[in-house]
Amino acid sequence: MKPMTIAAEEFRRCLTEYFRAKRSYLFARGRLGLYAGLRAMELPPGAKVIVPGYTCMVVASAIKYVGLVSEYVDIDPKTYNINPSLLSSVSSDSAALIVQHTYGIPCDMPSVQAWTTPRDIPIIEDCCHAVGSTIDGRLCGTFGRFAFLSGQWNKPFSTGLGGMLVVNDPALVEAVERLVNTELKQRGRFSDLLLRCQIAAHDLLVRPATALWLMRAYRLLNRLGLVVGSWSPVEMLCVMPDDYFTAMSPCQIQRGLREMARIDDNIRHRKMMTAFYHDRLSKMGFAPLDVPGAEAIPLLRYPVRVANKQDVLTHAASHRVEIGSWFECPLHPDGTPMEMLGYSQGMCPESERACREVINLPTHLKADESVGDKTLKFLAKFAKPA
Ligand SMILES: *Cc1c(COP(=O)(O)O)cnc(C)c1O
Repeated sequence: MKPMTIAAEEFRRCLTEYFRAKRSYLFARGRLGLYAGLRAMELPPGAKVIVPGYTCMVVASAIKYVGLVSEYVDIDPKTYNINPSLLSSVSSDSAALIVQHTYGIPCDMPSVQAWTTPRDIPIIEDCCHAVGSTIDGRLCGTFGRFAFLSGQWNKPFSTGLGGMLVVNDPALVEAVERLVNTELKQRGRFSDLLLRCQIAAHDLLVRPATALWLMRAYRLLNRLGLVVGSWSPVEMLCVMPDDYFTAMSPCQIQRGLREMARIDDNIRHRKMMTAFYHDRLSKMGFAPLDVPGAEAIPLLRYPVRVANKQDVLTHAASHRVEIGSWFECPLHPDGTPMEMLGYSQGMCPESERACREVINLPTHLKADESVGDKTLKFLAKFAKPA
């Protein structure tokens, strides 16, 4: 056993309690939670994992690094989640299925389970967008063998990058434990210091009005290798970096603990902003989110379909509004070599359409109603409903 700091133990305990799980683990990024959980499942090499074809490339690359193969299923255009009615067309010899509660919209778990349960296919939950979303009162993240969460800057709560694995299935605990004890690397001193500075800079500088400019600068610095980014250049080529499987740093753990202390405020605020956009968008001629109880979901971002996505994104930065582009392609971001991850153009037409049409609006704690107002005024001026 490696020594574990008191803060790490406390953060893990908070997560485990929150999700009423068996055990939680902390990593440098969310994708590592998926990687560790999949490794622990000990699936046969080459086994298929069903994934919504509307996700981050790092989900598909984690699957690949474990030696498994992604099988993409298209989304329901209303929920942006895996379309359960398409499951009957995928191979029933799949070894696992990943549900992703996109934008915080809970996946239709009863329909998914109606397909997986008789086939004995284990469910994994990608909760990188969903903390606090529920299905009939049951928290997303409590349905699968394990759930993974991201602490990246723009996720439900940020640990300044970082990731979390919440294990529900007691049978997986021992294997994850072994993996973490034998293979998990610690971040170097310099990288830890850099990250500490980045977290401080982020908290000080990033506001809805500055977010897009700073994001551009950050991406550039990442490309130049000058900051700790959310991906490294080799990863964009689907090659596993040497320092891939790395633990969460103390500065990230401290931030995570602060975020867990205000998680209820965070969720309440997101619900309030969801209701705010929901009400106003329909009056503006944009289609509001068309899922039952939409106005009460603590959305991570409020998705809106527009006919001129690129125009809107181009103007957003200069108008100092925080418009998001998730997802830019079925395996976000733009530029992912999707064929290397088994995705070929046309596989998921609804996902591809969503990538062309969907922009998203901020609901986080720094985006209050006045930010929401400004964002909607911008949309009224520059965006055309799809
Ligand atoms: C951000 C994200 C991830 C990966 O999180 P990282 O912390 O960047 O590894 C996985 N799935 C979804 C849906 C995400 O949005």
